[in-house]
Amino acid sequence: MAIKIYNTMTRQKEEFKPINEGEVKMYACGPTVYNYFHIGNARTFIVFDTVRRYLEYRGYKVKFIQNFTDIDDKMIKKANEEGVTVKDIAEKYIQEYYKDADNLKIKRATQNPRATEYINEIIEFVKDLVDKGYAYVVDGDVYFDTTKFKEYGKLSHQSIEDLEAGARIEVDERKRNPMDFALWKAKKEGEPAWDSPWGPGRPGWHIECSTMACTLLGETIDIHGGGADLIFPHHENEIAQSEARNGKPFANYWMHVAYLNVNNQKMSKSLNNFFTAREILEKYDAEVIRLFMLSGHYRNPINFSLDLLDQAKSALERLYNAVAHLEHVIEVSEDRELKDEEVEFYNRLDSFKEKYIEAMDDDFNTADAISIIFDLVREVNTNIKETSAKKLAQKALNLIRELGGPLGILEKSTKVSLDEEIERLIEERQKARKEKNYALADKIREQLKEMGIILEDTPQGVRWRRI
Ligand SMILES: [Zn+2]
Repeated sequence: MAIKIYNTMTRQKEEFKPINEGEVKMYACGPTVYNYFHIGNARTFIVFDTVRRYLEYRGYKVKFIQNFTDIDDKMIKKANEEGVTVKDIAEKYIQEYYKDADNLKIKRATQNPRATEYINEIIEFVKDLVDKGYAYVVDGDVYFDTTKFKEYGKLSHQSIEDLEAGARIEVDERKRNPMDFALWKAKKEGEPAWDSPWGPGRPGWHIECSTMACTLLGETIDIHGGGADLIFPHHENEIAQSEARNGKPFANYWMHVAYLNVNNQKMSKSLNNFFTAREILEKYDAEVIRLFMLSGHYRNPINFSLDLLDQAKSALERLYNAVAHLEHVIEVSEDRELKDEEVEFYNRLDSFKEKYIEAMDDDFNTADAISIIFDLVREVNTNIKETSAKKLAQKALNLIRELGGPLGILEKSTKVSLDEEIERLIEERQKARKEKNYALADKIREQLKEMGIILEDTPQGVRWRRI
């Protein structure tokens, strides 16, 4: 069985065949580093992290590149507003990106190249396009001539005529055609600039991805991904530049992650429904957020709300209860051979793994994969008891943890997570007492008692112990 990937280019699922056997060259467009990233970005990052983890789980060696856009209009504006340099803004938000991404358990990419570190390569790339007649220079700007690239529009399935007819924006007089886009932008007052054959300036946005993908992964890569909003014009332009220059396909599989809506509306600051990943991480564990984000297929829009996150939280707790149950059984059960009645379930455990792989192989269907884990947990709860054979419980536990791996869930020790929960409740109780909400404080004390935790108020503060 092979992995199938839905390719935006051909609009169908295709069998995944990497260029080099056993290796995957994958590029995903990263953030423009002028702000904290929002939960819509978080969804895209989590999806590509899951794709990467799953490919690794299936035995591939994955080289995963995700760039940082560290020079563009928004960055310049932000730097001017704050009275600092563009480089300062980039440094700050790259560090903030790593903090949030690490907290979301997003594995670090093989490399995170920054546009400003590839200026020479970008200039070479643009020079080649000018030399080959695909680009032209006007007053220190360089534009890509979209009419020269006959397949322009092939990714977004639009003809250049339709695109031009739809281009309502005021057309820059200096451009030859409405869809032409900037490869290099001449320096304006107060902007950072680098020397180039066309005078001082800076790269356009699209060219950085073409250049860094080509430099770090080669002229043709296996998988190129990003949010669905990048299909046009960003990825269309990346294809035009790369294929015009190199004369070969840029990427063999194009993957796009659908939108995330908030309370069934488009997320926007003006609607007051805008959340950064950091805000959500303050309230929810990374695994809850990942379980929620992966509970729908990545090509379908997902609706985000705090209620839905609460549901994901309870769902994750059900999974961890099963993990805790198995850990307990392993501790107390007998280390013996399987009884006849245990053999069937012991062997059947493998079928859950087969179904999981079948779901994930089918264009990374995490929604189905998650329901298979729930099926497994339900059966574990009915089939495995303290009297079961230790090796049965051990096999079930290993399997649950293994299937959680590519999704980035079920990786925690149950003991640690329980301790964290207790600390959190104690803190909540202290806050309630401070606010003289004694009813709530008592309720929390009762809740802790049910969990087998006794609180003691001491001069040094609150201590807790297990009954
Ligand atoms: Zn890009």
